[in-house]
Amino acid sequence: MADGLAEPGRQAEFQGGMTEKMDAQWSRVRDRLKAEIGDAAYQSWIKPMTLREMVSGRVSVSVPTRFMRDWVVAHYAERLRTLWTDEDSGVKVVDVMVQSDREEPVLGPVASARNRVASKETLSNGNGETGRDDISAPLDLRFTFENFVVGKPNEFAYAAAGRVAEAASVPFNPLFLYGGVGLGKTHLMHAIAWRIRENDPARTVIYLSAEKFMYRFIRALRGQNTVDFKEQFRSVDVLMIDDVQFIGGKESTQEEFFHTFNALVDQGRQIVISADKSPSDLEGMEERLKSRLNCGLVADIHATTYELRVGILQSKAERFGVEVPSKVMEFLAHKITSNVRELEGALNRVVAHTQLVGRDITLESTQEVLHDLLRANDRRVTIEEIQKRVAQHFNIRISDMHSARRARSVARPRQVAMYLAKQLTSRSLPEIGRKFGGRDHTTVMHAVKRVEELRDHDSTFAEDVELLRRMLEG
Ligand code: ADP
Ligand code: MG
Repeated sequence: MADGLAEPGRQAEFQGGMTEKMDAQWSRVRDRLKAEIGDAAYQSWIKPMTLREMVSGRVSVSVPTRFMRDWVVAHYAERLRTLWTDEDSGVKVVDVMVQSDREEPVLGPVASARNRVASKETLSNGNGETGRDDISAPLDLRFTFENFVVGKPNEFAYAAAGRVAEAASVPFNPLFLYGGVGLGKTHLMHAIAWRIRENDPARTVIYLSAEKFMYRFIRALRGQNTVDFKEQFRSVDVLMIDDVQFIGGKESTQEEFFHTFNALVDQGRQIVISADKSPSDLEGMEERLKSRLNCGLVADIHATTYELRVGILQSKAERFGVEVPSKVMEFLAHKITSNVRELEGALNRVVAHTQLVGRDITLESTQEVLHDLLRANDRRVTIEEIQKRVAQHFNIRISDMHSARRARSVARPRQVAMYLAKQLTSRSLPEIGRKFGGRDHTTVMHAVKRVEELRDHDSTFAEDVELLRRMLEG
């Protein structure tokens, strides 16, 4: 199929002049992206793209290879979609597909029902509109059980997800998955949805983020069709809400969610929820909702282990069909410990680079390509390290970081450590509190304020803190 519009029948939708308009939009979108990502990246990834068609809010672009498709989807598709929506608010989805072979199945075993969409990846816009009146957000084709690598940190969550996906009746309600960012929560939820659709296409499965849930709710309120809204959400077999922490502090959305939740549970429908924290630790969440969320099975995904990271790298390399020396994988697994998303990103970069320059992947080229990333990761400190350094510096015992002692000689260093933990790590206040002998997040907040005050008024103290910070960052 050539560039531009495909079937003449569809052209009617564009009312003639739309083609030029689309081309102009496309060229502006590309220019803006070029300005953002630089010429080199633009030449490699964006320039080879071809605009294919636009049908009821869905824009399709194609790229020459599957590898490029994966890369573009991972790195630019979201931005592409946003830029396009800026140009034309009618654009809701951007599909990236492979030119050469549209029917080529994507990465791993794909059931027949999925082959129809097999060579494209879909991204919907933030408000969940897909043109069709579908309240479920699109599912990522790569997020299947087959593509999920199981290890100690995630085996429980994986097993629980599998159970929900395969069970004939509801095994526990809700399934509550939680864990840090980039550890596979969304992946597992999509996997559940794929599996259920595969096993029993008649069951309605709805997956959406809590943010979209809220958006839809607000829109229903405005349009005064909350009855339809309730109807839609209460007639599904499986409801999955991702990143539920988002509705923390949003009272009326919580209220609506609570009622939807209860209605579904009463009817014996399955609910799956994800969040970045356990139900009890969710901030700004009503007690009754927290206790409801706690009622089913709560499964956490822990930080990755070295073994799991190596396993994930092996699996991804295999799917890319590229030879990655085990030394390189070990190196990456050792260096990039934050989360799976970053690990994947690093591997993508290494593979893309070596493919572009047509060389083999080596330890040296890996270090070169990931230069900036590795430096940033090196600087990442843990709360434990902070506690140790601060204790050493003030000459107190590390155990005093956790103890209940309130003597100033230990309380002050403890506050400094909390302050540094807030500054140097991405941990939340409750998480920090927990690491300091199970203290409340308000204690941490207080510590941060106190240290800031002292720093402003006491230059010796300010120097101490600065010194510690530099030591920890160095
Ligand atoms: P979260 O929703 O927890 O922030 P995601 O589910 O979006 O994280 O995962 C981030 C990326 O890491 C995704 O590309 C996902 O496929 C990948 N990923 C996470 N865990 C695993 C795993 N165990 N095996 C394979 N890929 C994984
Ligand atoms: Mg997620």
